Amino acid sequence: MNTMQQIFRFAPSPNGALHLGHAFAAWQNMDAAARAGGTLLLRLEDIDTTRCTNALEAQMLEDLHWIGMRWRDPVRRQSDHFDDYLKALDQLRQLDLVYPAFLTRGEIRDAVRKKEASQQTWPRDPDGTPLYPGVERNLSTGAQQDLINTGRAFAWRLNTGKAIAHVGGALSWQETGQGPQGQSGTIAADPAAWGDVVIARKDIPTSYHLSVVVDDGIQGVSDVIRGHDLFAATSIHRLLQVILGLQAPLYCHHLLIGDSTGRKLSKSDRDTSIRSLRNAGLTPDDVRALCERSEKL
Ligand code: GLU
Repeated sequence: MNTMQQIFRFAPSPNGALHLGHAFAAWQNMDAAARAGGTLLLRLEDIDTTRCTNALEAQMLEDLHWIGMRWRDPVRRQSDHFDDYLKALDQLRQLDLVYPAFLTRGEIRDAVRKKEASQQTWPRDPDGTPLYPGVERNLSTGAQQDLINTGRAFAWRLNTGKAIAHVGGALSWQETGQGPQGQSGTIAADPAAWGDVVIARKDIPTSYHLSVVVDDGIQGVSDVIRGHDLFAATSIHRLLQVILGLQAPLYCHHLLIGDSTGRKLSKSDRDTSIRSLRNAGLTPDDVRALCERSEKL
């Protein structure tokens, strides 16, 4: 019998209003935590401190409370924990698994366009973004330092090929939900598909991938329940967890609520914000029923 307390977390980014899609994901976590008699945590993924504001955060907490979510305090606000991510970045630097990458988005686009103009296809990650060309990947530490000393802006990128070799064996995770193609059970991770992902940005000392694995580790999260738009990213999360010596949670990816055009709901869909539904007189139960009825992708 498993006597360990299961720990769940709902981890929204307060960069817009809470909408039906968020509420659906929150309910998936609330129900699972209640079924398991586990603990539910709330984490605010606000590393983008320009888009995530105090006002949006306050509104999000209020809306979550209104739909009935209760969590164990304290709320973990990622922008309060940059030191933790810097420590993890340092670990990766010590292992020589990250490198400073200087190409701007425009320069990456130009490099890809040039390749594709000469009939060469350029690999893209599972989200459709061209892989980083990795021009600085094999520079010596001295040459990297010279570039850093020029003062040009750079991001730390994972040398994903080297990281995979460092881990040695095959990576997998346990999926109790479903990937976009119905994948479940033991899933073979494919971190190479992502190329050299950003680990720390030029203006933010971390990235989504780094902070999510560090936090799930620090918070002892046993069960990650989130939308299947993050299913493929789990491959990178597993790679980072093994390198950083962090425990792998169980993963459960769920369907997404679609908008009227069959796309994932976004924060610009004002009419599905929890606030506007509430102002229109709906109760939390009505909102839940609306969630259940909404088309799922
Ligand atoms: N902050 C992410 C989002 O709002 C979720 C991260 C996660 O659950 O791993 O999409």
